[in-house]
Amino acid sequence: MQIHEIKRGFTIMYDYLIVGSGLFGSVFAHEAVWHSKSVLVVDKRPHIGGNIYTENINGIHVHSYGAHIFHTNNKRVWDYVNNLADFNRYTHSVIANYRGEIYSLPFNMYTFNKMWGVITPQEAQEKINSQREAAGITNPKNLEEQAISLVGHEIYERLIKGYTQKQWGRECKNLPAFIIKRLPVRFKYDNNYFDALYQGIPVKGYTAIIKKLLEGCEVKLNCDYFEHRSELEGLADKIIFTAPIDAYFDYELGTLEYRTVRFEQEILDGVNNYQGHSVINYTDKDTPCMRIIEHKHFYPGLELDKNFTVITREFSSEWRPGMEAYYPVNDERNTRLYESYKELAMTRCPNVIFGGRLGEYKYYDMDMIIIKALELADKIIA
Ligand code: FAD
Ligand code: UDP
Repeated sequence: MQIHEIKRGFTIMYDYLIVGSGLFGSVFAHEAVWHSKSVLVVDKRPHIGGNIYTENINGIHVHSYGAHIFHTNNKRVWDYVNNLADFNRYTHSVIANYRGEIYSLPFNMYTFNKMWGVITPQEAQEKINSQREAAGITNPKNLEEQAISLVGHEIYERLIKGYTQKQWGRECKNLPAFIIKRLPVRFKYDNNYFDALYQGIPVKGYTAIIKKLLEGCEVKLNCDYFEHRSELEGLADKIIFTAPIDAYFDYELGTLEYRTVRFEQEILDGVNNYQGHSVINYTDKDTPCMRIIEHKHFYPGLELDKNFTVITREFSSEWRPGMEAYYPVNDERNTRLYESYKELAMTRCPNVIFGGRLGEYKYYDMDMIIIKALELADKIIA
């Protein structure tokens, strides 16, 4: 590999330039360094980790970009992350607050009991079946029909309709059915949010994992790829690009749409336990905030330990260029547009590999991100 001088602080040439120090970029970087490759990672934010970044506030590892619970069925991934950090035994569950009434999520026997007073799975199933039949839905075509056919119209009205419209800024009738299928429906008394064999949260937060993954790499923060494009592009044989794919092509085919989230964090001094649970969703349409997170409840054993607590309120809104992009809107238009960008990428820039949730315009959980980054590393790192 040729070594040469470069302008503005970059002095060597690298095997890989990685744009984005989120989980995807960091896992790939780790694998590359393991194979003795030289790696430069740049990120426009002032910190590493992308959306899984956690900030240590007096011993509470605060999830700065929303609740992140690691869950997977993949043993390779679970072993991988456990080699990097100790995980606690946190099992996720969510409480729904509908106009002051409390329900259990995901939908399970506790929810059905609270809603209808039913006791047995058979009673709950009968109730849902009768509501589905009354609605006349046989082949659900959108989120509303899917939700009613899964849990009936009362649960749909109280726990799904308002929340989903706030989250996506669209009527449930105009959203794809698959979104609601991410939530389990269980005819058991079981509030566990995820059907996963393995689940937990790193005891020292996610940033510690990213720090380990990036050992041996050069990292430049506050470095927007597009502001330094000309000097960065020539630096490496290959680019792993985890920023938005449409931005790479200067939006020449059009702009991909996202939903964004505003996180309002507050430290409550003198308050030991603000809401008694890690995540409470506000499922009516009139409460502007989607949910409130109380971070200490992600760390069993820490709840009563401190005379302060940190909470975050989440508000969802339409994304505009320049804002942080969180949730891809996988409707027909955006899916087609993404496919066109993918084709453009293959023909125009074979040395750039687009990965991660922004590079592939896909909502991935953390375990899938790790699988994808490891697969890529297995494939291209010789
Ligand atoms: P990112 O973390 O977004 O990393 C991309 C990086 O690229 C960022 O650091 C960004 O600053 C950088 N970048 C962007 N543009 C530029 C540029 N122009 N120049 C330089 N750098 C740039 N998954 C779970 O498994 N469990 C959960 O409980 C969970 N909860 C979630 C909650 C929320 C609110 C959200 C939004 C996601 C959640 N996820 C969860 C998904 C998880 O966040 C993702 O799987 C993961 O963060 C994706 O990693 P990534 O590296 O692809 O993207
Ligand atoms: N959802 C809902 N009510 C809730 C929680 C979730 O209707 O209280 C719906 C909503 O449409 C959401 C989907 O279920 O987009 C998936 O929920 P999940 O918790 O996976 O959402 P995310 O992790 O994307 O915030």
